[in-house]
Amino acid sequence: MRYRYLSDNHCHTDCSFDGVDPAMMLCDSATRQGLFALTITDHCECHRYYDEGYNRAIRQSYFEARKAAAVFRGKLHVYAGIELGQPMQDLKAAEEALSMCDYDFVLGSLHNVSGQPDFYDISYETADLPALLHTYFDEMLAMVQWGGFDSLAHMTYPWRYAQGDHGIALSYDPYWEQIDAVLKALIDKGLSLELNTSGLRQKLGTTIPDEPILRRYRELGGKRVTIGSDAHRWADVASGVEDGLALLESLGFTHIAIYHAHVPDMYPIA
Ligand SMILES: [Zn+2]
Ligand SMILES: [Zn+2]
Repeated sequence: MRYRYLSDNHCHTDCSFDGVDPAMMLCDSATRQGLFALTITDHCECHRYYDEGYNRAIRQSYFEARKAAAVFRGKLHVYAGIELGQPMQDLKAAEEALSMCDYDFVLGSLHNVSGQPDFYDISYETADLPALLHTYFDEMLAMVQWGGFDSLAHMTYPWRYAQGDHGIALSYDPYWEQIDAVLKALIDKGLSLELNTSGLRQKLGTTIPDEPILRRYRELGGKRVTIGSDAHRWADVASGVEDGLALLESLGFTHIAIYHAHVPDMYPIA
């Protein structure tokens, strides 16, 4: 292990609808790999919050994270977070979710544009993908301007499915103006950009976002980056995190942010 402050700040337990293993198992894996910190970030899909009873799931996740923090004290810093999906699609739900628990860290995510299915479920053969992606970045900008979160999760999430799973080559070129606006808004508001390493173990084969966007973020003055594997099972904890840190280092980033009580503590990468 090259890195002293190896951490994973995006992972799902069995409190997420698509998660498999309990928080204790994730922490056990993190400890065995010598991680410094682990942040549990179970799903809260705001647009389905009331229909699917997320209030119970997120509360359970929070207590499991706090319990694990007590069990692993002295071996691993365990933080309680949440992955807040599509907050602008039900702001009342988002605000209720955030007020229910005393989180260390909130990821802001956009898994679908308003009125459309999750990018995972889009019919890529028939979809007007450019129109969807323009809307995606517009809605992302509105979410960043709202700013009720700490780090922007998997900024190029649709690429995971369109390019990775469906083999549709997708350039960033038509979207640079919007991408820049999102990155600048993050910097202006003091928020972080997440480097999500899930794409490295999936068909996409790159981090989410990847090098061109990370480079642009740095050019614009962005310094705050969080890192997470987006593990949905025990075996994926910290997957790709060392490669992600190496990429950040190669692009000139010097620190990684790990949040405690919404404060970004900046740890040296090297
Ligand atoms: Zn997500
Ligand atoms: Zn996730």
